Amino acid sequence: MSSNIVWHDQSVSHEERQKIKGHKPLVLWFTGLSGSGKSTIANAVERKLAELSVHSYLLDGDNVRHGLNKDLGFSDTDRIENIRRIGEVSNLMAEAGLVVLTAFISPFRSDRQLVRELVGAERFVEVFIDTPLEVCEQRDPKGLYKKARTGEIKHFTGIDSAYEAPQQPDIHVQTAEADIETCAERIVEALKSSFKL
Ligand code: ADP
Repeated sequence: MSSNIVWHDQSVSHEERQKIKGHKPLVLWFTGLSGSGKSTIANAVERKLAELSVHSYLLDGDNVRHGLNKDLGFSDTDRIENIRRIGEVSNLMAEAGLVVLTAFISPFRSDRQLVRELVGAERFVEVFIDTPLEVCEQRDPKGLYKKARTGEIKHFTGIDSAYEAPQQPDIHVQTAEADIETCAERIVEALKSSFKL
């Protein structure tokens, strides 16, 4: 499908973009069960980044499914395509110099690995929002677990669709043991110390 397509070199280099922005680009890839706190913590992290004058953008699950990926459902094939497209968009935003935060369940290890390769390992930060299923189900902020348990929703991650937890996440956050503010602070500290943001 994509023969005869040539990648154009750009006149503005990565280094120039980084100098203009005042920081390097990163993709903070949040992964975890529904209700684990990806969206909440990513928002809290983005708030802190804004206060540090970091140029960022948050791509959130539901918002992307309303637009870019509104033609996709929740079958395995569609979930893979969902993540692939988000990976491509994140990569373009990182190319533009932003710190991109993404908040998608992204349940399959192979998909997250694909995005890591696409974005480049040096720019990709996998953030595991590690919350036990029982806690997510208790929180049930959107009432989805209830629907999954009664069978109203099929292929729900953690219930009747697999979640493959990261084996070596770049940042590991256990939300059952720390409040939202503390989780966000730990992530920003790790970005400064380990990723030289
Ligand atoms: P996800 O994006 O992973 O589906 P959400 O961020 O939408 O999850 O929902 C997580 C819910 O859990 C929110 O209602 C949030 O207020 C609540 N919550 C309670 N404690 C925490 C915590 N320590 N970290 C993150 N969220 C928490």
